Amino acid sequence: MEIVCLDLEGVLIPEIWISLAERTGIEALRATTREVPDYDALMRQRLRILEEHGLGLPDVQAAADAVGPLEGAQEFIDWLRRRFQVVILSDTFYEFAHPIMRQLGWPTLFCHRLQVDGGGRVVDYRLRMRDHKVQAVAAFRGLNFKVFAAGDSYNDTGMLKEADTGILFRPPDNVAREFPRFPVAREYGELQDRFLEASEYCVDRES
Ligand SMILES: [Mg+2]
Repeated sequence: MEIVCLDLEGVLIPEIWISLAERTGIEALRATTREVPDYDALMRQRLRILEEHGLGLPDVQAAADAVGPLEGAQEFIDWLRRRFQVVILSDTFYEFAHPIMRQLGWPTLFCHRLQVDGGGRVVDYRLRMRDHKVQAVAAFRGLNFKVFAAGDSYNDTGMLKEADTGILFRPPDNVAREFPRFPVAREYGELQDRFLEASEYCVDRES
């Protein structure tokens, strides 16, 4: 009856594109959904930079591979999955989320696909649908689930609004300032407390 929807990057793992920026020394790749509200503009910019520097899918996959869960994220998601149904709603791509999902124990992930040519060049990206986070939360509610959601960035605020309970997790100051309606959690323990408070069924039990 209750589903927790979580963003991935910034909530359970670091930003993959920042990892790629650090590995390649390309500063312009540091831009993320934390600063750029227009996701399409952000992705177009990323694809252009990859093209300009001759970087392909294997380079992005290597950066994603090097990214492990944030400290405490594994324990957090294990705790959560014992108590709630959990779905990760992310604007990342299946092509490079794979190694991280393995590290997290294969939670359910809804995201997008990249279009890659035979030489590993990322030629385009395909959103499964526009505003899929909002649509997923609305659909779950339509199925009579109560939805609790947490995310850190501009691309999460729609789903936080659509959810029965929406919480910002470690948002940058600009996002927290622009969306004062959402409570902010800085630690996994605070998020756990918020979900427990919102839940009709769940008591905090060790199991
Ligand atoms: Mg995020």
